Amino acid sequence: MVGAKNLIVGGGISGVTLARKLAESGEQVLVVEIKNHIGGNVYDYRDANGIMVHQYGPHIFHTNNKEVWDFISRFTKWRPYHHQVQGLVDGKFVPIPFNLNSLQMVFPSALADRFENKLLDRFGFNKKVPILELRNTDDKDLDFLAEYIYEKIFLEYTIKQWGVEPDKIDPSVSGRVPVYISCDNRYFQDKYQGIPLDGYSAMVWKLLDHPNIEVKLKTPFSQSIEYERLFWTGSVDEFFDTKFGILPYRSIAFDFLTFDYPQFQEVSQVNYPCNYDWTRITEYKHFLRDSSPKTTISFEYPTDFQVGKNDRQYPIANADNAALYTKYLELAKDLPNVYFFGRLGDYKYYNMDQAIARALALFNKVKGVNN
Ligand code: UDP
Repeated sequence: MVGAKNLIVGGGISGVTLARKLAESGEQVLVVEIKNHIGGNVYDYRDANGIMVHQYGPHIFHTNNKEVWDFISRFTKWRPYHHQVQGLVDGKFVPIPFNLNSLQMVFPSALADRFENKLLDRFGFNKKVPILELRNTDDKDLDFLAEYIYEKIFLEYTIKQWGVEPDKIDPSVSGRVPVYISCDNRYFQDKYQGIPLDGYSAMVWKLLDHPNIEVKLKTPFSQSIEYERLFWTGSVDEFFDTKFGILPYRSIAFDFLTFDYPQFQEVSQVNYPCNYDWTRITEYKHFLRDSSPKTTISFEYPTDFQVGKNDRQYPIANADNAALYTKYLELAKDLPNVYFFGRLGDYKYYNMDQAIARALALFNKVKGVNN
């Protein structure tokens, strides 16, 4: 019979971070991963043209958490990279998040200046204002501007991405991409930002490269595997055979295309908030400055997650789903030595750094370390 002191189900960034920490503390770890590759949704590979492609869409590492940055930087060197995104609005490619430069691009300058002054007076320079908050001022100009941004940037994108309007999903979701009262065109302002120089998959394999870690790909969880502790990074409903019903997620269908010319678009990511059925197009060679006479891009078509048909990509943050998740979590409380974590296990829209921070915190909890 196969066995391990620690059984980790799922080889995504959460599972492999915990695996590494446990292994370094002297414990034996078995990681089982149902797919034929490691890394979960951060998995990447070089395609036939030598371009590093992110199989599950664009992943940009960014964090203000020095502990996380220092930890993960032991396993990769970085290409310093500051993500810039454009959105096609009224026929123009404007910076996203919508900022003071975007404002000047879409309105005549006198009007843009008036809006800019009002934004600066009301919120101050370099402030990030969630669109749902901007829609709540009592100023006529700001109200007009908020409606414009809401309609042109958020409304249709969010309907495509989530299947509902922005106010039907937790405000933290649209709040991830606030209106930015600034001329800074970057998508993130974190202190540490980059793309792993040899890719995410290489970084993940380096995390797993430890004598106390065994990895089994194409291996589902099975009760026949013996363990003292079980760490589950899959969806919590699956662990309990969906007895209270299926926890909903959004999935993405990716359409990859390669063209016989060197560049498709100016930046790695262009959003299409009000045109077409896709949400965004990613051109991968920008991330690591891969040089090739060809280029590879992906279109993203969001869709509902269906068991056995596609992958879980995004937990859907609303009150009903939170209640269903909590019901499962109540069951989990009665299980000794079983832990749920990660984007699916916690049912939280984690960024990569948050997933790592959560795994580090879980390690401390399990080992009784207080910090
Ligand atoms: N969003 C939007 N328009 C955009 C970009 C983002 O409406 O051009 C909203 C949308 O609801 C999206 C959310 O903000 O799901 C979070 O966007 P983010 O870029 O963080 O999504 P991710 O990269 O995680 O898919």
